[in-house]
This record gives sequence, structure tokens and C-alpha cells, in this order.
Amino acid sequence: MTERLELIQGDITRFAVDAVVNAANSALSGGGGVDGAIHRAAGPELVAECRTLGRCPTGEARITKGYRLPAAHVIHAVGPVWWGGDRGEDALLASCYRSVFALMEQHGLRTVAFPSISTGSYSFPIERAAPIALREMREALARRPELERVTVVLFSARDLKVYQEALSAP
Ligand code: ADP
Repeated sequence: MTERLELIQGDITRFAVDAVVNAANSALSGGGGVDGAIHRAAGPELVAECRTLGRCPTGEARITKGYRLPAAHVIHAVGPVWWGGDRGEDALLASCYRSVFALMEQHGLRTVAFPSISTGSYSFPIERAAPIALREMREALARRPELERVTVVLFSARDLKVYQEALSAP
């Protein structure tokens, strides 16, 4: 199973996978960080399709086409804003990852690239987010043999190290 899960440092907009995951906001309107990068690379058709979808509640996800991205689809997942940890942040973050895998199953998708959801401008501590993300990925891989590859694309060397340590933790 582990060989189907990989951690890479890079820019998620460059990955030719069935779906790249966007750390979106509830309005699905585009924004900064990875959201801005994905919308810039995909072109204006992406925000136009997002407008047809309405709002997406925190912990859920929506799928669109990838347009000018090398990825076929974008799955827009809305992570929780960090409020200190007592407002259901852990469960909402886990729910984001599960929502992405549910959409992949519905659409018959086999390869996916994730950013580190919520750990940028939403301030979720990455040391706490990484084990939650990796647990959900391992569970999905164990349950779904049709999943070929799950890639986590970390933007910085430091973020990559945090995920590597979480992956090798007992
Ligand atoms: P959120 O609002 O969910 O916190 P951000 O986009 O602010 O989302 O940050 C999520 C993570 O995505 C951060 O670790 C940030 O460094 C990273 N990131 C930003 N741009 C890219 C990119 N092009 N590819 C992969 N990760 C990125």
C-alpha cells in the first residue's frame, strides 16, 4: 500500500493526474495560495464552472474539469480555518480528505495529487494536520484497490519533512 502513497516537494499545478485537489474556500471563488496558483494555471474557465456550483460547506468537496492544467479534474476541498482546535477542526479536515476520495470513486478516478489542506492561510498546524491527512489516505488506499497513486505535493522542504516524519512515525 505504501508504494501507492508518495510525498513530493513541488508545484501541484504541474502534475498530470486524474485529479488535483485544491484547498478552496467555501465560495469556490479562487483566492491566494494553492487556490490562486490552480486558478491561474487552469485559466478563466475554471472559475466560470465553479460559479455554477454554488457554495461548498467546510469539510466537503466539489469536482470540476481541469481546463488548461495537465490534470483532468480539480477537486475543490474546503478545509477548516484553525480556531485553536476545539471547534471540530480535526474532524472537518478528515472529512475533506474523505469527500475527495468519495468523489474519486464516483467518477472512476485513480490518481490524485493533494496539497496540504488548511495549513497555509487557514493556519491549521501542519504537525497536527499531516497525521490526519496520511491516515485518511492510507485508509482509502486500503479500502480501494482501484486507487493507483496518491501523491502529496508539499510546497516547501520544511513541509515535506513534516509529512515524511509523520509517515514514518509508528
Ligand atoms: P489553506 O487556505 O487551506 O490554508 P493555502 O493555499 O493557504 O490553503 O495553503 C495550503 C498549502 O498549500 C500551504 O502549505 C502552501 O504552502 C501550499 N501551496 C501553495 N501553493 C502551492 C502549489 N502551487 N503547489 C502545492 N502547494 C502549494
